Amino acid sequence: MVDTSRTYTLQDIQHWQVPGTTLAVLGSPIKHSLSPLMHNAALAAMARTDPTFADWRYIKIEVLPDNLAEACQLLHSRAFAGINLTLPHKVQALQIIEGHQGEALRMGAVNTLIRTKTGYRGANTDGYGSQQAVWQEFHFNYTSGETMHLLGAGGAAQAIAVQFITEGTGTLWIGNRSGQRLENLLKLLHTIPEAKERVHGYTFDKTPQQRPPHGLIINATSQGLDPSAPAPISLDAFDPKRTWVYDTIYNPPETALLQEARKRGIPAANGLSMLVHQGAKSLQYWSGMEPPVEVMTAALNP
Ligand code: NDP
Repeated sequence: MVDTSRTYTLQDIQHWQVPGTTLAVLGSPIKHSLSPLMHNAALAAMARTDPTFADWRYIKIEVLPDNLAEACQLLHSRAFAGINLTLPHKVQALQIIEGHQGEALRMGAVNTLIRTKTGYRGANTDGYGSQQAVWQEFHFNYTSGETMHLLGAGGAAQAIAVQFITEGTGTLWIGNRSGQRLENLLKLLHTIPEAKERVHGYTFDKTPQQRPPHGLIINATSQGLDPSAPAPISLDAFDPKRTWVYDTIYNPPETALLQEARKRGIPAANGLSMLVHQGAKSLQYWSGMEPPVEVMTAALNP
């Protein structure tokens, strides 16, 4: 019997003999992951219309960085059909995958592993998740030509930036605390032909005059994870009628940046919808079906 609320260990998987199709998220710490909740809700709904999914389950497994390669081998030998990776595994997994799809390599990380005969193929669904999330929240379209202001230059920012440059049409302004990480991301983006003259970077201590006072602001720094942390940038210069604020953080649900936006009447939303859409894309890769996004959303907003 599979207990989808339990945190499994690799030792548990050594003796795994469960019929049906199993999916898993690997991370450390993984105890508080919301992924099992939303994926099992989706699978239950899919099973109501297609009995193929009646014995599909999604579990969470605590895996330390040193054990990632061994974990993937073990899960493959136990016939796990798909894996999600979260902190701290997304970058290291590039060394383990057998191949990749989409922009995973340029995004520099994989969060989805899809089973092949001999191993797992890697994909990154975070960039897609960001695009769908801002469409759902604000009807903001990456192809509208409107500016994106991306805050942060780490892993999440890289996926969002590559998605916006390859799928979108507007100008991208990237702000970050440290110059070094910013430079690395700018260098990578400039290797993409579509980036030509569309990408600008600055550090938070030197905001350039030319930065447009409107557009979609996405926070992909981890600054707001601390509920007492201030917003990474001031919204004073932005036109409330032509600005939208999305924070990839969902816990706490209302960061200082989102509070500042609401105070000014700027539409604002947190990262739960990105979590849902990146998960829905993973489930689509594994199942070949269109997952019920509204069921996944409802599972996270009981
Ligand atoms: P990384 O560690 O790769 O990057 C962290 C980024 O945050 C860097 O740009 C770093 O800047 C910046 N930063 C950290 N602390 C501060 C601070 N005190 N002030 C200003 N900037 C700071 O992390 P990830 O990219 O993996 O994650 C970033 C955020 O994205 C997290 O909050 C995570 O929860 C969220 N996320 C949400 C997802 C979703 O589905 N909703 C999916 C993935 C991530 P510097 O270079 O100066 O260190």
